Amino acid sequence: MSTYRPINERIRDFKPVEIQPQPADLYEDLKHCQDCGIPFCHACGCPLLNAVPEINAAVLNGRMHSALGVLLATSPFPEFTARVCPAPCEGSCVQGLNADAVPCRQVEFVVIEEGFAKSLIRPRPPRLRRSLQVGVVGSGPAGLAAAWRLNQAGMQVKVYEKDTRPGGFMRYGIPDFKLEKKVLDRRIRLLEQEGIVFECGVEVGSDISGRLLAKRHNVLVLAGGARQKRDLVIPGRDLAGVHFATDYLTSQNRLNAGEINALPKDHDAGGKRVLVIGGGDTGADCMGTAWRQGAISVSQVEILPKPPTTRAADNPWPQWPRTLRSSSSHAEGGERLFSVTATSFSPATDNAGHVGTALCAAVNWSAGDGAPRPLPVENSEFVLPVDLVLLAMGFTGAEDGALLKSLELKKDKSGRLPRSEGGRVLRDAQNSARTDTDAPDEAADTLADFPVYACGDAALGPSLVVRAMNDGLRVAERVIADFR
Ligand SMILES: Cc1cc2nc3c(=O)[nH]c(=O)nc-3n(C[C@H](O)[C@H](O)[C@H](O)COP(=O)(O)OP(=O)(O)OC[C@H]3O[C@@H](n4cnc5c(N)ncnc54)[C@H](O)[C@@H]3O)c2cc1C
Repeated sequence: MSTYRPINERIRDFKPVEIQPQPADLYEDLKHCQDCGIPFCHACGCPLLNAVPEINAAVLNGRMHSALGVLLATSPFPEFTARVCPAPCEGSCVQGLNADAVPCRQVEFVVIEEGFAKSLIRPRPPRLRRSLQVGVVGSGPAGLAAAWRLNQAGMQVKVYEKDTRPGGFMRYGIPDFKLEKKVLDRRIRLLEQEGIVFECGVEVGSDISGRLLAKRHNVLVLAGGARQKRDLVIPGRDLAGVHFATDYLTSQNRLNAGEINALPKDHDAGGKRVLVIGGGDTGADCMGTAWRQGAISVSQVEILPKPPTTRAADNPWPQWPRTLRSSSSHAEGGERLFSVTATSFSPATDNAGHVGTALCAAVNWSAGDGAPRPLPVENSEFVLPVDLVLLAMGFTGAEDGALLKSLELKKDKSGRLPRSEGGRVLRDAQNSARTDTDAPDEAADTLADFPVYACGDAALGPSLVVRAMNDGLRVAERVIADFR
Protein backbone atom coordinates (compact mmCIF):
# COMPACT_ATOMS: atom_id res chain seq x y z
CA MET A 1 0.00 0.00 0.00
CA SER A 2 1.25 3.47 -0.87
CA THR A 3 2.05 5.88 1.93
CA TYR A 4 1.35 9.56 1.59
CA ARG A 5 2.46 12.73 3.33
CA PRO A 6 -0.05 13.96 5.93
CA ILE A 7 -2.91 15.83 4.27
CA ASN A 8 -2.57 19.05 6.28
CA GLU A 9 1.08 19.24 5.25
CA ARG A 10 0.81 18.28 1.59
CA ILE A 11 -2.06 20.58 0.62
CA ARG A 12 0.22 23.55 1.36
CA ASP A 13 2.58 22.74 -1.50
CA PHE A 14 2.82 21.05 -4.89
CA LYS A 15 5.53 18.57 -3.89
CA PRO A 16 4.89 14.84 -4.47
CA VAL A 17 2.18 13.45 -2.20
CA GLU A 18 3.52 9.91 -2.20
CA ILE A 19 6.40 8.92 0.06
CA GLN A 20 9.09 7.01 -1.76
CA PRO A 21 9.06 3.38 -0.54
CA GLN A 22 12.22 1.62 0.63
CA PRO A 23 13.01 -1.93 -0.60
CA ALA A 24 12.62 -3.30 2.95
CA ASP A 25 9.01 -1.97 3.07
CA LEU A 26 8.16 -4.23 0.16
CA TYR A 27 9.78 -7.55 1.13
CA GLU A 28 6.68 -9.17 2.68
CA ASP A 29 4.66 -8.54 -0.46
CA LEU A 30 7.52 -9.63 -2.68
CA LYS A 31 7.70 -12.97 -0.86
CA HIS A 32 4.02 -13.52 -1.63
CA CYS A 33 4.68 -12.61 -5.25
CA GLN A 34 7.16 -15.48 -5.45
CA ASP A 35 4.46 -17.91 -4.27
CA CYS A 36 2.39 -17.14 -7.36
CA GLY A 37 1.51 -20.17 -9.48
CA ILE A 38 0.65 -18.60 -12.81
CA PRO A 39 1.23 -14.84 -12.91
CA PHE A 40 -1.10 -12.70 -15.00
CA CYS A 41 0.37 -9.29 -14.13
CA HIS A 42 2.75 -9.09 -17.08
CA ALA A 43 0.70 -10.52 -19.93
CA CYS A 44 -2.88 -9.67 -18.89
CA GLY A 45 -2.05 -6.50 -17.04
CA CYS A 46 0.95 -4.49 -18.19
CA PRO A 47 0.65 -3.10 -21.73
CA LEU A 48 4.46 -2.97 -21.90
CA LEU A 49 4.66 -6.63 -20.83
CA ASN A 50 7.01 -5.72 -17.98
CA ALA A 51 8.34 -8.98 -16.53
CA VAL A 52 6.94 -8.14 -13.11
CA PRO A 53 7.58 -11.49 -11.34
CA GLU A 54 11.22 -11.52 -12.47
CA ILE A 55 11.74 -7.91 -11.40
CA ASN A 56 10.16 -8.64 -8.04
CA ALA A 57 12.27 -11.78 -7.53
CA ALA A 58 15.46 -9.85 -8.25
CA VAL A 59 14.53 -7.09 -5.78
CA LEU A 60 13.66 -9.67 -3.11
CA ASN A 61 17.05 -11.30 -3.57
CA GLY A 62 18.88 -7.97 -3.41
CA ARG A 63 19.88 -8.09 -7.09
CA MET A 64 18.85 -4.51 -7.86
CA HIS A 65 21.12 -4.18 -10.88
CA SER A 66 19.54 -7.21 -12.46
CA ALA A 67 16.02 -5.94 -11.59
CA LEU A 68 16.86 -2.71 -13.39
CA GLY A 69 18.04 -4.59 -16.47
CA VAL A 70 14.82 -6.60 -16.64
CA LEU A 71 12.68 -3.49 -16.15
CA LEU A 72 14.51 -1.50 -18.82
CA ALA A 73 14.22 -4.37 -21.27
CA THR A 74 10.56 -3.53 -21.77
CA SER A 75 10.04 0.00 -20.43
CA PRO A 76 11.99 3.01 -21.68
CA PHE A 77 10.89 5.44 -18.95
CA PRO A 78 9.82 3.53 -15.80
CA GLU A 79 10.18 6.70 -13.72
CA PHE A 80 6.97 8.08 -15.30
CA THR A 81 4.81 5.00 -14.85
CA ALA A 82 6.24 4.45 -11.35
CA ARG A 83 4.54 7.72 -10.41
CA VAL A 84 1.33 7.95 -12.42
CA CYS A 85 0.39 4.51 -13.70
CA PRO A 86 -2.91 3.13 -12.35
CA ALA A 87 -1.01 -0.17 -12.49
CA PRO A 88 -3.09 -2.59 -14.57
CA CYS A 89 -0.51 -5.19 -13.44
CA GLU A 90 -1.87 -4.88 -9.91
CA GLY A 91 -5.43 -5.27 -11.22
CA SER A 92 -4.52 -8.73 -12.52
CA CYS A 93 -2.22 -9.74 -9.64
CA VAL A 94 -3.12 -13.20 -8.30
CA GLN A 95 -2.77 -12.04 -4.71
CA GLY A 96 -5.32 -9.34 -5.55
CA LEU A 97 -7.99 -12.07 -5.82
CA ASN A 98 -8.52 -12.04 -2.06
CA ALA A 99 -6.09 -9.48 -0.63
CA ASP A 100 -4.23 -6.31 -1.57
CA ALA A 101 -2.29 -6.79 -4.80
CA VAL A 102 1.51 -6.86 -4.73
CA PRO A 103 2.57 -3.18 -5.03
CA CYS A 104 4.31 -3.61 -8.40
CA ARG A 105 4.26 0.13 -9.17
CA GLN A 106 6.14 0.89 -5.98
CA VAL A 107 8.70 -1.80 -6.77
CA GLU A 108 9.19 -0.12 -10.14
CA PHE A 109 9.75 3.18 -8.31
CA VAL A 110 12.42 1.68 -6.05
CA VAL A 111 14.22 -0.02 -8.94
CA ILE A 112 14.38 2.93 -11.31
CA GLU A 113 15.20 5.52 -8.65
CA GLU A 114 18.00 3.36 -7.31
CA GLY A 115 19.24 3.11 -10.89
CA PHE A 116 19.36 6.89 -11.14
CA ALA A 117 20.85 7.30 -7.66
CA LYS A 118 23.68 4.90 -8.52
CA SER A 119 24.27 6.61 -11.88
CA LEU A 120 23.37 3.43 -13.72
CA ILE A 121 21.06 5.35 -16.05
CA ARG A 122 23.39 7.04 -18.48
CA PRO A 123 22.97 8.32 -22.02
CA ARG A 124 23.37 5.48 -24.48
CA PRO A 125 23.65 6.92 -27.98
CA PRO A 126 23.41 4.40 -30.81
CA ARG A 127 26.72 2.94 -32.01
CA LEU A 128 25.87 3.42 -35.67
CA ARG A 129 24.06 6.35 -37.26
CA ARG A 130 21.97 5.97 -40.37
CA SER A 131 21.04 8.72 -42.79
CA LEU A 132 17.29 8.15 -42.35
CA GLN A 133 15.62 11.31 -41.02
CA VAL A 134 12.54 10.88 -38.85
CA GLY A 135 10.26 13.65 -37.65
CA VAL A 136 8.13 13.05 -34.56
CA VAL A 137 5.24 15.44 -33.91
CA GLY A 138 4.43 15.68 -30.21
CA SER A 139 6.55 15.00 -27.14
CA GLY A 140 4.09 13.28 -24.78
CA PRO A 141 4.84 9.72 -23.63
CA ALA A 142 4.01 8.29 -27.08
CA GLY A 143 6.25 10.71 -28.99
CA LEU A 144 9.11 10.34 -26.49
CA ALA A 145 8.93 6.53 -26.57
CA ALA A 146 8.84 6.45 -30.38
CA ALA A 147 11.69 8.96 -30.62
CA TRP A 148 13.79 6.99 -28.13
CA ARG A 149 13.35 3.68 -29.97
CA LEU A 150 13.97 5.18 -33.43
CA ASN A 151 17.08 6.95 -32.17
CA GLN A 152 18.35 3.73 -30.60
CA ALA A 153 18.01 2.15 -34.06
CA GLY A 154 20.38 4.81 -35.40
CA MET A 155 17.82 7.02 -37.13
CA GLN A 156 18.19 10.80 -36.96
CA VAL A 157 15.25 11.98 -34.91
CA LYS A 158 13.82 15.45 -34.54
CA VAL A 159 10.82 16.00 -32.22
CA TYR A 160 8.53 18.94 -32.97
CA GLU A 161 6.57 20.25 -29.98
CA LYS A 162 4.18 23.17 -30.08
CA ASP A 163 4.36 23.79 -26.35
CA THR A 164 7.21 25.59 -24.57
CA ARG A 165 8.80 22.41 -23.25
CA PRO A 166 8.54 18.68 -24.00
CA GLY A 167 6.38 16.19 -22.10
CA GLY A 168 2.78 16.58 -23.33
CA PHE A 169 0.16 16.03 -20.65
CA MET A 170 2.86 14.71 -18.33
CA ARG A 171 4.22 18.28 -18.15
CA TYR A 172 1.23 20.56 -18.55
CA GLY A 173 -1.69 18.33 -17.47
CA ILE A 174 -0.65 16.06 -14.59
CA PRO A 175 0.11 18.20 -11.50
CA ASP A 176 3.52 18.29 -9.84
CA PHE A 177 2.13 16.64 -6.72
CA LYS A 178 1.75 13.48 -8.82
CA LEU A 179 4.67 13.91 -11.21
CA GLU A 180 7.45 16.35 -10.43
CA LYS A 181 8.71 17.97 -13.59
CA LYS A 182 12.35 17.52 -12.65
CA VAL A 183 11.75 13.81 -13.31
CA LEU A 184 10.69 14.72 -16.83
CA ASP A 185 13.62 17.13 -17.32
CA ARG A 186 16.07 14.44 -16.19
CA ARG A 187 14.83 12.11 -18.94
CA ILE A 188 14.67 14.79 -21.64
CA ARG A 189 18.33 15.64 -20.91
CA LEU A 190 19.27 11.99 -21.42
CA LEU A 191 17.35 11.82 -24.70
CA GLU A 192 19.14 14.96 -25.93
CA GLN A 193 22.50 13.51 -24.93
CA GLU A 194 21.59 10.39 -26.91
CA GLY A 195 21.15 12.54 -30.01
CA ILE A 196 17.43 13.38 -30.23
CA VAL A 197 16.79 16.99 -31.26
CA PHE A 198 13.80 18.80 -29.72
CA GLU A 199 12.31 21.78 -31.50
CA CYS A 200 9.82 23.32 -29.06
CA GLY A 201 7.43 26.19 -29.66
CA VAL A 202 6.83 24.93 -33.20
CA GLU A 203 3.31 23.99 -34.20
CA VAL A 204 3.31 21.64 -37.14
CA GLY A 205 0.68 22.83 -39.59
CA SER A 206 0.97 26.50 -38.58
CA ASP A 207 4.66 27.26 -38.05
CA ILE A 208 5.85 24.57 -40.41
CA SER A 209 3.84 22.88 -43.13
CA GLY A 210 3.35 19.19 -43.82
CA ARG A 211 5.01 19.64 -47.19
CA LEU A 212 8.16 21.09 -45.67
CA LEU A 213 8.28 18.18 -43.25
CA ALA A 214 7.98 15.81 -46.20
CA LYS A 215 11.09 17.46 -47.66
CA ARG A 216 13.03 17.38 -44.41
CA HIS A 217 12.21 13.86 -43.31
CA ASN A 218 11.92 10.39 -44.78
CA VAL A 219 9.23 9.39 -42.29
CA LEU A 220 6.89 11.21 -39.93
CA VAL A 221 5.44 9.84 -36.69
CA LEU A 222 2.40 11.71 -35.39
CA ALA A 223 2.02 11.67 -31.61
CA GLY A 224 -0.06 14.80 -31.11
CA GLY A 225 -2.40 13.26 -28.53
CA ALA A 226 -6.21 13.30 -28.23
CA ARG A 227 -6.68 16.90 -27.18
CA GLN A 228 -10.04 17.94 -28.60
CA LYS A 229 -11.83 18.86 -25.36
CA ARG A 230 -15.37 17.64 -24.70
CA ASP A 231 -17.53 20.68 -23.97
CA LEU A 232 -20.72 21.03 -21.94
CA VAL A 233 -23.13 22.92 -24.14
CA ILE A 234 -25.67 24.21 -21.63
CA PRO A 235 -27.09 27.68 -20.89
CA GLY A 236 -24.52 29.89 -19.16
CA ARG A 237 -21.51 28.00 -20.57
CA ASP A 238 -20.01 31.27 -21.84
CA LEU A 239 -20.07 32.99 -18.43
CA ALA A 240 -16.69 34.02 -17.02
CA GLY A 241 -15.43 31.50 -14.47
CA VAL A 242 -16.31 28.41 -16.54
CA HIS A 243 -13.13 26.84 -17.88
CA PHE A 244 -11.71 23.69 -19.34
CA ALA A 245 -9.84 21.69 -16.71
CA THR A 246 -6.68 21.23 -18.75
CA ASP A 247 -6.34 25.00 -19.31
CA TYR A 248 -6.64 25.47 -15.56
CA LEU A 249 -4.12 22.72 -14.73
CA THR A 250 -1.72 24.03 -17.37
CA SER A 251 -1.66 27.46 -15.71
CA GLN A 252 -0.70 25.98 -12.34
CA ASN A 253 1.98 23.80 -13.93
CA ARG A 254 3.37 26.81 -15.79
CA LEU A 255 3.43 28.84 -12.55
CA ASN A 256 5.23 26.05 -10.69
CA ALA A 257 7.78 25.84 -13.50
CA GLY A 258 8.38 29.59 -13.49
CA GLU A 259 7.00 29.95 -17.03
CA ILE A 260 4.54 32.58 -15.75
CA ASN A 261 4.77 34.89 -12.74
CA ALA A 262 1.16 34.66 -11.59
CA LEU A 263 -1.95 32.61 -12.27
CA PRO A 264 -4.53 34.16 -14.58
CA LYS A 265 -7.15 35.48 -12.10
CA ASP A 266 -9.77 33.05 -13.38
CA HIS A 267 -7.45 30.07 -12.90
CA ASP A 268 -6.93 30.81 -9.22
CA ALA A 269 -9.33 28.91 -6.94
CA GLY A 270 -8.17 30.80 -3.83
CA GLY A 271 -11.21 31.81 -1.72
CA LYS A 272 -13.62 30.28 -4.27
CA ARG A 273 -16.30 27.60 -4.33
CA VAL A 274 -15.21 25.20 -7.04
CA LEU A 275 -17.31 22.80 -9.07
CA VAL A 276 -15.48 20.13 -11.08
CA ILE A 277 -17.56 18.44 -13.75
CA GLY A 278 -16.15 15.01 -14.60
CA GLY A 279 -15.12 12.23 -12.27
CA GLY A 280 -11.89 10.95 -13.87
CA ASP A 281 -8.19 11.54 -13.30
CA THR A 282 -8.34 15.07 -14.67
CA GLY A 283 -11.20 15.97 -12.33
CA ALA A 284 -9.33 14.58 -9.34
CA ASP A 285 -6.23 16.56 -10.34
CA CYS A 286 -8.37 19.72 -10.42
CA MET A 287 -9.62 18.99 -6.90
CA GLY A 288 -6.09 18.59 -5.52
CA THR A 289 -4.96 21.73 -7.32
CA ALA A 290 -7.94 23.77 -6.10
CA TRP A 291 -7.26 22.81 -2.45
CA ARG A 292 -3.63 23.84 -2.82
CA GLN A 293 -4.70 27.19 -4.27
CA GLY A 294 -6.91 27.77 -1.19
CA ALA A 295 -10.41 26.90 -2.40
CA ILE A 296 -13.25 27.22 0.15
CA SER A 297 -15.10 24.17 -1.13
CA VAL A 298 -14.71 21.67 -3.95
CA SER A 299 -17.48 19.50 -5.40
CA GLN A 300 -17.09 16.95 -8.17
CA VAL A 301 -20.04 15.74 -10.18
CA GLU A 302 -19.96 12.69 -12.43
CA ILE A 303 -22.78 11.76 -14.80
CA LEU A 304 -22.03 8.03 -14.59
CA PRO A 305 -23.34 5.95 -11.70
CA LYS A 306 -21.09 5.33 -8.71
CA PRO A 307 -18.97 2.26 -9.50
CA PRO A 308 -19.18 -0.70 -7.12
CA THR A 309 -16.54 -1.04 -4.41
CA THR A 310 -15.89 -4.66 -5.38
CA ARG A 311 -15.86 -6.30 -8.81
CA ALA A 312 -19.21 -6.81 -10.52
CA ALA A 313 -20.05 -10.26 -11.90
CA ASP A 314 -19.33 -9.13 -15.47
CA ASN A 315 -15.91 -7.76 -14.49
CA PRO A 316 -14.03 -10.80 -13.16
CA TRP A 317 -10.36 -10.97 -12.22
CA PRO A 318 -7.86 -10.70 -13.99
CA GLN A 319 -9.61 -7.91 -15.95
CA TRP A 320 -8.94 -4.33 -14.98
CA PRO A 321 -11.29 -3.76 -12.00
CA ARG A 322 -14.02 -1.26 -12.85
CA THR A 323 -14.48 -0.35 -9.20
CA LEU A 324 -14.64 2.97 -7.35
CA ARG A 325 -11.21 4.58 -7.49
CA SER A 326 -10.20 7.31 -5.12
CA SER A 327 -7.07 9.32 -5.65
CA SER A 328 -4.91 11.11 -3.11
CA SER A 329 -6.82 14.29 -4.07
CA HIS A 330 -10.14 12.75 -3.01
CA ALA A 331 -8.66 11.97 0.39
CA GLU A 332 -7.88 15.69 0.76
CA GLY A 333 -11.57 16.60 0.92
CA GLY A 334 -14.55 17.70 -1.13
CA GLU A 335 -17.76 15.97 -2.08
CA ARG A 336 -18.26 13.53 -4.95
CA LEU A 337 -21.67 13.22 -6.53
CA PHE A 338 -22.48 10.43 -8.99
CA SER A 339 -25.33 10.14 -11.53
CA VAL A 340 -25.50 13.93 -11.51
CA THR A 341 -25.07 16.48 -14.27
CA ALA A 342 -25.13 20.27 -14.50
CA THR A 343 -28.02 21.57 -16.62
CA SER A 344 -27.31 25.33 -16.60
CA PHE A 345 -25.06 28.00 -15.11
CA SER A 346 -26.41 31.36 -13.92
CA PRO A 347 -24.62 34.65 -13.31
CA ALA A 348 -23.70 35.88 -9.83
CA THR A 349 -26.17 38.44 -8.42
CA ASP A 350 -23.38 40.99 -7.93
CA ASN A 351 -21.49 40.23 -11.16
CA ALA A 352 -23.69 39.65 -14.20
CA GLY A 353 -20.95 38.29 -16.49
CA HIS A 354 -19.56 35.81 -13.98
CA VAL A 355 -20.88 32.40 -12.97
CA GLY A 356 -22.61 32.36 -9.56
CA THR A 357 -24.64 29.16 -9.45
CA ALA A 358 -24.88 25.81 -11.20
CA LEU A 359 -28.20 24.07 -11.57
CA CYS A 360 -27.64 20.33 -11.27
CA ALA A 361 -29.94 17.34 -11.61
CA ALA A 362 -29.77 13.63 -10.92
CA VAL A 363 -29.88 11.29 -13.91
CA ASN A 364 -31.07 7.75 -14.35
CA TRP A 365 -29.28 5.52 -16.80
CA SER A 366 -32.12 3.98 -18.78
CA ALA A 367 -31.22 0.63 -20.29
CA GLY A 368 -34.12 0.58 -22.76
CA ASP A 369 -33.51 -0.30 -26.39
CA GLY A 370 -29.92 0.29 -27.43
CA ALA A 371 -27.18 1.90 -25.36
CA PRO A 372 -28.10 3.22 -21.87
CA ARG A 373 -28.82 6.97 -21.88
CA PRO A 374 -28.85 9.41 -18.97
CA LEU A 375 -32.41 10.60 -18.35
CA PRO A 376 -33.08 13.49 -15.92
CA VAL A 377 -34.86 12.47 -12.72
CA GLU A 378 -37.98 14.57 -12.19
CA ASN A 379 -37.81 17.12 -9.32
CA SER A 380 -34.21 16.22 -8.57
CA GLU A 381 -32.77 19.66 -9.41
CA PHE A 382 -30.58 21.41 -6.88
CA VAL A 383 -28.52 24.58 -6.96
CA LEU A 384 -24.82 24.78 -6.13
CA PRO A 385 -23.30 28.20 -5.45
CA VAL A 386 -20.08 28.35 -7.46
CA ASP A 387 -17.30 30.82 -8.32
CA LEU A 388 -15.23 28.58 -10.55
CA VAL A 389 -16.41 25.71 -12.76
CA LEU A 390 -13.90 23.30 -14.29
CA LEU A 391 -14.95 21.08 -17.18
CA ALA A 392 -13.07 17.79 -16.92
CA MET A 393 -15.19 15.65 -19.21
CA GLY A 394 -12.42 14.16 -21.29
CA PHE A 395 -11.55 14.49 -24.92
CA THR A 396 -13.30 13.58 -28.15
CA GLY A 397 -10.15 12.71 -30.09
CA ALA A 398 -7.27 14.27 -32.01
CA GLU A 399 -7.36 18.06 -32.18
CA ASP A 400 -9.14 19.72 -35.11
CA GLY A 401 -6.14 21.87 -35.81
CA ALA A 402 -3.80 22.88 -38.56
CA LEU A 403 -1.76 19.68 -38.16
CA LEU A 404 -4.17 17.33 -39.90
CA LYS A 405 -5.11 19.87 -42.54
CA SER A 406 -1.52 20.53 -43.42
CA LEU A 407 -0.78 16.83 -43.76
CA GLU A 408 -4.04 16.28 -45.65
CA LEU A 409 -5.29 13.75 -43.13
CA LYS A 410 -8.67 13.12 -41.57
CA LYS A 411 -9.84 11.61 -38.32
CA ASP A 412 -12.29 8.70 -38.26
CA LYS A 413 -15.77 8.90 -36.70
CA SER A 414 -14.38 8.20 -33.24
CA GLY A 415 -11.93 11.10 -33.48
CA ARG A 416 -8.85 8.91 -33.93
CA LEU A 417 -6.32 8.87 -36.74
CA PRO A 418 -7.16 5.79 -38.82
CA ARG A 419 -4.11 3.59 -39.29
CA SER A 420 -3.07 0.20 -40.57
CA GLU A 421 -2.14 -2.67 -38.28
CA GLY A 422 1.47 -1.46 -38.45
CA GLY A 423 0.60 2.11 -37.48
CA ARG A 424 0.74 3.77 -40.91
CA VAL A 425 -1.94 6.45 -41.23
CA LEU A 426 -4.55 5.51 -43.81
CA ARG A 427 -5.27 8.08 -46.47
CA ASP A 428 -8.11 7.97 -48.89
CA ALA A 429 -8.28 9.73 -52.24
CA GLN A 430 -10.05 12.68 -50.64
CA ASN A 431 -7.46 12.93 -47.87
CA SER A 432 -4.59 13.39 -50.28
CA ALA A 433 -6.13 16.38 -52.10
CA ARG A 434 -3.98 19.51 -52.11
CA THR A 435 -4.87 22.32 -49.67
CA ASP A 436 -4.87 26.00 -50.61
CA THR A 437 -2.90 27.04 -47.55
CA ASP A 438 0.40 25.47 -48.61
CA ALA A 439 3.11 27.94 -49.51
CA PRO A 440 4.04 27.39 -53.20
CA ASP A 441 7.79 27.15 -52.52
CA GLU A 442 7.19 24.32 -50.09
CA ALA A 443 4.78 22.41 -52.27
CA ALA A 444 5.83 18.89 -53.13
CA ASP A 445 3.87 17.18 -55.89
CA THR A 446 1.82 15.26 -53.40
CA LEU A 447 1.86 14.25 -49.76
CA ALA A 448 0.29 10.92 -50.57
CA ASP A 449 3.68 9.17 -50.84
CA PHE A 450 5.08 10.62 -47.61
CA PRO A 451 5.03 7.83 -45.01
CA VAL A 452 3.15 9.03 -41.94
CA TYR A 453 2.59 6.85 -38.87
CA ALA A 454 0.46 7.63 -35.83
CA CYS A 455 0.77 6.54 -32.22
CA GLY A 456 -0.45 7.27 -28.70
CA ASP A 457 -3.73 8.92 -27.83
CA ALA A 458 -4.03 10.39 -31.35
CA ALA A 459 -4.55 6.88 -32.67
CA LEU A 460 -5.86 5.04 -29.58
CA GLY A 461 -8.16 7.71 -28.22
CA PRO A 462 -7.65 9.14 -24.70
CA SER A 463 -5.82 6.52 -22.66
CA LEU A 464 -2.94 6.26 -20.21
CA VAL A 465 0.73 7.12 -20.09
CA VAL A 466 1.67 3.42 -20.14
CA ARG A 467 -0.51 2.69 -23.18
CA ALA A 468 0.71 5.75 -25.07
CA MET A 469 4.31 4.79 -24.33
CA ASN A 470 3.76 1.19 -25.41
CA ASP A 471 2.07 2.33 -28.61
CA GLY A 472 4.96 4.67 -29.41
CA LEU A 473 7.39 1.76 -29.06
CA ARG A 474 5.23 -0.58 -31.14
CA VAL A 475 4.89 1.90 -33.99
CA ALA A 476 8.61 2.73 -33.87
CA GLU A 477 9.36 -0.99 -34.31
CA ARG A 478 7.22 -0.99 -37.44
CA VAL A 479 9.01 2.04 -38.82
CA ILE A 480 12.33 0.30 -38.18
CA ALA A 481 11.08 -2.84 -39.92
CA ASP A 482 9.64 -0.89 -42.89
CA PHE A 483 12.83 1.18 -43.39
CA ARG A 484 15.49 -1.43 -42.80
C1 LIG B 1 -4.98 16.17 -16.32
C2 LIG B 1 -4.60 14.81 -16.79
C3 LIG B 1 -4.19 13.86 -15.88
C4 LIG B 1 -3.83 12.60 -16.29
N1 LIG B 1 -3.40 11.70 -15.36
C5 LIG B 1 -2.95 10.50 -15.77
C6 LIG B 1 -2.43 9.57 -14.81
O1 LIG B 1 -2.39 9.84 -13.61
N2 LIG B 1 -1.96 8.38 -15.28
C7 LIG B 1 -1.97 8.06 -16.61
O2 LIG B 1 -1.52 6.98 -16.98
N3 LIG B 1 -2.49 8.91 -17.52
C8 LIG B 1 -2.97 10.12 -17.14
N4 LIG B 1 -3.49 10.99 -18.07
C9 LIG B 1 -3.54 10.57 -19.48
C10 LIG B 1 -2.16 10.70 -20.15
O3 LIG B 1 -1.53 11.89 -19.77
C11 LIG B 1 -2.31 10.62 -21.67
O4 LIG B 1 -2.97 9.41 -22.00
C12 LIG B 1 -0.94 10.64 -22.36
O5 LIG B 1 -0.21 11.79 -22.01
C13 LIG B 1 -1.09 10.58 -23.87
O6 LIG B 1 0.18 10.62 -24.44
P1 LIG B 1 0.42 11.12 -25.94
O7 LIG B 1 1.90 11.17 -26.11
O8 LIG B 1 -0.36 10.31 -26.89
O9 LIG B 1 -0.21 12.60 -26.01
P2 LIG B 1 0.01 13.92 -25.14
O10 LIG B 1 0.58 13.65 -23.80
O11 LIG B 1 -1.28 14.63 -25.24
O12 LIG B 1 1.12 14.71 -25.98
C14 LIG B 1 0.85 15.21 -27.27
C15 LIG B 1 1.85 16.30 -27.56
O13 LIG B 1 1.74 16.68 -28.93
C16 LIG B 1 1.88 18.09 -29.03
N5 LIG B 1 1.26 18.53 -30.27
C17 LIG B 1 -0.02 18.37 -30.66
N6 LIG B 1 -0.21 18.92 -31.88
C18 LIG B 1 0.99 19.42 -32.28
C19 LIG B 1 1.43 20.10 -33.45
N7 LIG B 1 0.60 20.40 -34.45
N8 LIG B 1 2.73 20.47 -33.54
C20 LIG B 1 3.60 20.19 -32.52
N9 LIG B 1 3.22 19.55 -31.38
C21 LIG B 1 1.93 19.16 -31.27
C22 LIG B 1 1.15 18.58 -27.78
O14 LIG B 1 1.50 19.91 -27.45
C23 LIG B 1 1.61 17.57 -26.75
O15 LIG B 1 2.80 17.96 -26.12
C24 LIG B 1 -3.88 12.26 -17.68
C25 LIG B 1 -4.30 13.20 -18.61
C26 LIG B 1 -4.67 14.47 -18.18
C27 LIG B 1 -5.14 15.49 -19.18
